[in-house]
Amino acid sequence: MCGIIARVGEGGAVDELLTGLKNLEYRGYDSAGVAIPNGKSIDIRKQEGSVDDLVSAIDGNEPVGNIGIGHTRWSTHGPPTDENAHPHTDCTGSVAVVHNGIIDNHDELRDRLIAEGHEFTSETDTEVVPHLIERHLANGDGPEAAFRSAVDELDGSYALVATVEGGDALYATRNGSPLVLGIDGDRHYLASDVPAFLEFTDDVVYLEDHDVVVLNGDGYTIFDSEGRRLDRPVETVEWSPEDAEKGSYDHFMFKEINEQPVALGQTLSDRFTGDGDVDLGIDPDRYVDVDHVHFVACGTSYHAGLQGTHILTRAGVPASTYRASEFVATPPPLNEDSLVVGVTQSGETADTLEALRVATRRGAKTIAVTNAPGSTAVRETDESIFIRAGPEIGVAATKTFSSQVATLIMFAELITRSMTGSGIEDFEEIVDSLRSLPDAVQRILDTSRAERIARFYAGSEAQFFIGRGGAYPIALEGALKFKEITYEHAEGFAAGELKHGPLALVNADTPVFAVILGPGDEKTIGNVREVQARGAPVIVVAPEGADDALAVADEVLTVPDSHPIVASVLANVQLQLVSYHVAELLSRSIDKPRNLAKSVTVE
Ligand code: GLU
Repeated sequence: MCGIIARVGEGGAVDELLTGLKNLEYRGYDSAGVAIPNGKSIDIRKQEGSVDDLVSAIDGNEPVGNIGIGHTRWSTHGPPTDENAHPHTDCTGSVAVVHNGIIDNHDELRDRLIAEGHEFTSETDTEVVPHLIERHLANGDGPEAAFRSAVDELDGSYALVATVEGGDALYATRNGSPLVLGIDGDRHYLASDVPAFLEFTDDVVYLEDHDVVVLNGDGYTIFDSEGRRLDRPVETVEWSPEDAEKGSYDHFMFKEINEQPVALGQTLSDRFTGDGDVDLGIDPDRYVDVDHVHFVACGTSYHAGLQGTHILTRAGVPASTYRASEFVATPPPLNEDSLVVGVTQSGETADTLEALRVATRRGAKTIAVTNAPGSTAVRETDESIFIRAGPEIGVAATKTFSSQVATLIMFAELITRSMTGSGIEDFEEIVDSLRSLPDAVQRILDTSRAERIARFYAGSEAQFFIGRGGAYPIALEGALKFKEITYEHAEGFAAGELKHGPLALVNADTPVFAVILGPGDEKTIGNVREVQARGAPVIVVAPEGADDALAVADEVLTVPDSHPIVASVLANVQLQLVSYHVAELLSRSIDKPRNLAKSVTVE
């Protein structure tokens, strides 16, 4: 996880580094720091706490210099302390390094370096890197060669940026952790993600694993691992700086919930061809021999994957969804007729990437469904489908879930046609609902009673979410969102499963959110009565016309009438709003929930 920012060029470095760190804080926020060479030494400011704490500590005594590196950390090795904050240095303080990822062989390297006399000041895996660079400098290498030689000794995942006192350059590389270059005339940036520098430039180069970049006042040069120069394309990102700013909203999460009509408009735009077919930028002919679709994903994306399986299974196509880490632990039988679809917002989720690699090794076809062009998932799969939701900064995924589900609905039609020769039976009806989806979400945003319900039930002993069929993934997602940002106990269950155990937890202080969207409603209504008989208040989330479902409710959250599959996205928007408002009432850290970070780049 973590966020890296670095810059070179005209003007002072510190302000842009701190801005970049603020923009990246969603990736990690337990400590932060910057390193700026000032001609005499490398001025390092780093400490436990948020970027705001760092800004306050620096205020009035800013480091001076026009190149620098910065880091906001999500610790993997060593607790969040001042000493473990990045940048890390060598024994002499003349090499500074920021790192995202994990150095697998750090123990062995540390032992060797300590035996050679190096003194370590942190518990991090990262600190071996500046000491290795120091060692190669002492052996007579120049800074670039020393950086390369140090990197050659590393096993693991890393994005690294280093600077060496006395020079005017930054040295960077990546292996399994993201790093992107930004270009603004003669100013250049390196960052873990584009929003870090989006307010300075939208021209970017997506770096690939093992690229080595040297940045100085003259510009940038990219080399391959053998030192040969590489020409990587400069791309212009379509996101605007406002997309990555909070604007008038108190929280990114609320902004992103409210952006869903626009995000869904982008997701769906130009996807339907005149003949009722779907164009997702992949080649449907590649998939005619596929006999099983496996979705692999984590967290919220896993719930989107479950919805993909629901839609395909309902259409008669064999499909399953796996938690990516479990897919790696126990892979199903795979061959060249298996299709493995990795659903990952960031395209950098380590567990999902590993699952996709397992699939590739076993000969399966692979597709990435992602929000991040240029990401590792895109590079490592056969084809990619972009959900086009725009940048999502809040750690709790909202608009990207809606865009993932909308994308997977279209994908389900495409793959059903490829595999069976005919599409989903009621796809025209689904498309009609998809076309009205942005407006339907807007209606919910304009009229939702979620805030009132949040006031009523905030602070309950626990909350349960139930659903059946296509409503089941929404129950799981509703509970995940609730626990992520309110820190309160929330669980999602298949409605029919409640009586097989979880019902023991139900009482008058455990509100139950029942998502009731279509086939099987009578049974879910029966489950509602079961929990009401144990005293639990029930909030029914159902379409406006679902009289039977709404009639049993203690409270209702309605969604515009739509095809049940599309209504699942709408029901989820209501639950997002409930979680948001409860978290706000409980004064939680909504955009940066404790212990979590957005793009989980460790397994
Ligand atoms: N493994 C490093 C540490 O624990 C980097 C973690 C990160 O990516 O923020 O400091």
